[in-house]
Amino acid sequence: MNEVDFRRLQQILSKPQKIVITTHRNPDGDAYGSSLGLYWFLKKCGHEVKVLSPNDCPEFLKWLPGESEINLFEPEPVKGKEILSEAEIVFTLDFNAFHRLGELMGGAMHTIDPVFVMIDHHQQPDDFAAFQFVDATMSSTSEMVYQFIEGLGHVEFIDQDIASCLYTGILTDTGSFRFPATTSHTHRVVADLLERGADNSEIYNRIHNVNTYNRMQLLGRALDNMVVLDRFHTAYITLSQNELNRYNFQRGDTEGFVNYALSLKNVMFAAIFIEDKKQKIIKISFRSVGDFSVNEFSRNHFNGGGHINAAGGRSELSLKDTVKKFVEILPSLKNELTLS
Ligand code: 5GP
Ligand code: MN
Repeated sequence: MNEVDFRRLQQILSKPQKIVITTHRNPDGDAYGSSLGLYWFLKKCGHEVKVLSPNDCPEFLKWLPGESEINLFEPEPVKGKEILSEAEIVFTLDFNAFHRLGELMGGAMHTIDPVFVMIDHHQQPDDFAAFQFVDATMSSTSEMVYQFIEGLGHVEFIDQDIASCLYTGILTDTGSFRFPATTSHTHRVVADLLERGADNSEIYNRIHNVNTYNRMQLLGRALDNMVVLDRFHTAYITLSQNELNRYNFQRGDTEGFVNYALSLKNVMFAAIFIEDKKQKIIKISFRSVGDFSVNEFSRNHFNGGGHINAAGGRSELSLKDTVKKFVEILPSLKNELTLS
């Protein structure tokens, strides 16, 4: 967003507005962290604010300040539509295309006409927002919300709740400050969030030290299912619906599994294929190290996208046929799937 647009938005926000903050389906730490951080901030500025998410978050995010106030679209679509239609401004956080909201809420977004403000760090945004605050080099949307607040000249509004929300988003999207998008700027923002009350150790514990026995067993199954294709420096994992059921799968349980495949020596491309019988799809996560763009790969072959090194996708084929399709694409990418 250029300076002129930013000042125009600042002008709009200088009067109390009816604002709805939306984020993507299957919200992660950055989706909820950025949304709730912005929620508390905009409330402090005197706006009437609601957060609307397509569906619920994993258990390990339930402690986030304000989580219980979030409205869920899918369980109550009539109420969700009402909330959307009353909004003067709709913020879209951590996604850049309506289909990321799922069919129900995505469809509803096409029927409203508020001022859309996008804050997001994914590549190739759709063109629906009057104000686009987009930077694919940013570690997380939460880091961008911090910048947004800073741009408005109100960092002093960041209290412990806002700091905890934004810290959570940065922590989860950077893989605890490991991923390449983690910059000195990220650390400066984080340093300020700590000074404003975010408790790094407690937040880490709440997010990561909540493993269940079932989840550990499911991880064991996933690792057992892992296949390594040495020729293509690629590894993938599958989990069928039956396997998920056996270990009483809960939302969020497979978070991070794909990284085990990527952590193998000489592997630069990793995928996990997870069967979802209810939605009749295979949900896929892709990860890479180096220049190989999983964003492009997923866009080209699996109806998805994301970032260069982390993307999601989906397939409507069976689990077996999805894997077959994946394996058959690899030879055409042999030159890109070489270690430098
Ligand atoms: P995950 O594999 O963790 O679901 O997603 C990895 C990254 O890709 C996240 O930043 C996520 O927001 C993004 N992503 C996941 N699925 C999709 C998709 O279908 N389309 C796009 N554009 N991005 C996705
Ligand atoms: Mn994010």
